[in-house]
Amino acid sequence: MNNKCENCDVPLKTGDVIVQMAKGRYFPEQITPTYGDFVRDPEVLEWHDGCFKEFKLVLQAGPYKCLRCHKAIQHSEEVFYITKGTKYSLYHTRPADRGKTMPWIVHAGKCPTGT
Ligand SMILES: [Zn+2]
Ligand SMILES: [Zn+2]
Repeated sequence: MNNKCENCDVPLKTGDVIVQMAKGRYFPEQITPTYGDFVRDPEVLEWHDGCFKEFKLVLQAGPYKCLRCHKAIQHSEEVFYITKGTKYSLYHTRPADRGKTMPWIVHAGKCPTGT
């Protein structure tokens, strides 16, 4: 992980408010998906809060729906998700003070088809 903002290239520091995207596995009883099997490679991307323009954030209280296909995300499905908070360490740790809502979540890979 390079610890640089994906947009402006300025290094992110502990204490910065950041937007973090990661790959994980959704468990409805947890607010934030776990890195799970992806602990070694959660594909984390980070931005300064003000630099993030990639997606419109839609806060959800859970259980979450995929913002692409609008289907409910099932137990232990793989997802890409975004958390917003204070940068806590320079490693793959989630930001602190994330709150109780999920700003953005989609199925990882293809969305399920059918009903
Ligand atoms: Zn930036
Ligand atoms: Zn989907």
